[in-house]
Amino acid sequence: MKNFNQGVNYYILHPDEVLEQVKANPNFLIEELKNMELVDYLLENKILPYGAHTLSLVDENNDKWSSIHREYEKRNHNILEETRTIFQKFSSTDKNIILIENFGTILSSNACLGCFSSGDIDLSADSSDYHEVIKYMSELGYIKESRRGVPNSIMTTFSKANVLEGKKFYVNFEWKPIARRYIIGIKKLHRRLEHFRKNNYKTLDNGIKVLSDNALLYFNLLHVSIGHYYNTSPGIRLYADIDRLIRHSSDINYNKIFLWAKEDDQTIRVYTALSLTRDVLNTPIPDCNHLINNNIFKFSSKIKKYLWSVKKSSYINRTNIFDQWMIDAMSEGMNIFTYCLLRIVRLNRTKS
Ligand SMILES: [Zn+2]
Repeated sequence: MKNFNQGVNYYILHPDEVLEQVKANPNFLIEELKNMELVDYLLENKILPYGAHTLSLVDENNDKWSSIHREYEKRNHNILEETRTIFQKFSSTDKNIILIENFGTILSSNACLGCFSSGDIDLSADSSDYHEVIKYMSELGYIKESRRGVPNSIMTTFSKANVLEGKKFYVNFEWKPIARRYIIGIKKLHRRLEHFRKNNYKTLDNGIKVLSDNALLYFNLLHVSIGHYYNTSPGIRLYADIDRLIRHSSDINYNKIFLWAKEDDQTIRVYTALSLTRDVLNTPIPDCNHLINNNIFKFSSKIKKYLWSVKKSSYINRTNIFDQWMIDAMSEGMNIFTYCLLRIVRLNRTKS
């Protein structure tokens, strides 16, 4: 997330709360937002339709916001139709696919369809189905893309030209969750998702399959902490996914989530990502302190301190490689020197 006042982030992502506040004070938010370069902020954080949704409720005299939101609704209907077609195609086969991450969370938590601004969707599938997936996707008019830096064994991307007006629409098939090789417990995470894909999912009315709420929350927490070091782009949007899933679901079981985290060596990451979501978006999450030990708490506090800028009074975006190694070291509960040594060992093991 970019440097920003947490309060405003909260209101941008919670239109209902804004309406309540506006009833009490009609100038609320408008006054606060006037001085900001708001559109730049929304674009930079890739949350333009989210902001447009909220502002269309507050700033009724200005139809700029509602027309932006309407455009996204139209565009996302096309994405939904396309996703449905893909699931229809696969349902006539024995190949099991699941919609995950951003779009999976929106559909699963019944969130506003307009409030989705990504140009791709992410599916999890079994790597032994690789050739069939390529065949079915090409029958649906998709072209296999080559993406620099991401090997085909981890993810295969397909594109189609006529789904989003003027822009390519992308579908990522993730064969392995969270494309980071040197993470502690990564093999356990691969097995975990494989198990979830077969056992912990729900089928929506439209035939699209998503992970069940706890499984989806678990992987969303790992996605922001491992895949994005808690804060790299699209930062706040990843927390918005966690937030809407928790607010929507009546089924979240933190005991279960921490049990999985412990088994997969991810407790520090899961605890920290939950704690940051609560800080930034006021999400109703219990503190879960009885589910962790002092050491987890100590490292999690260190990570949060590392991401926090006292000067800016905000969590800041740390993107250079040294920061990322520091964040990984703390997330794995060790100092940077031990972490560097271990990483060299893991690298040599991968080579040999
Ligand atoms: Zn919306």
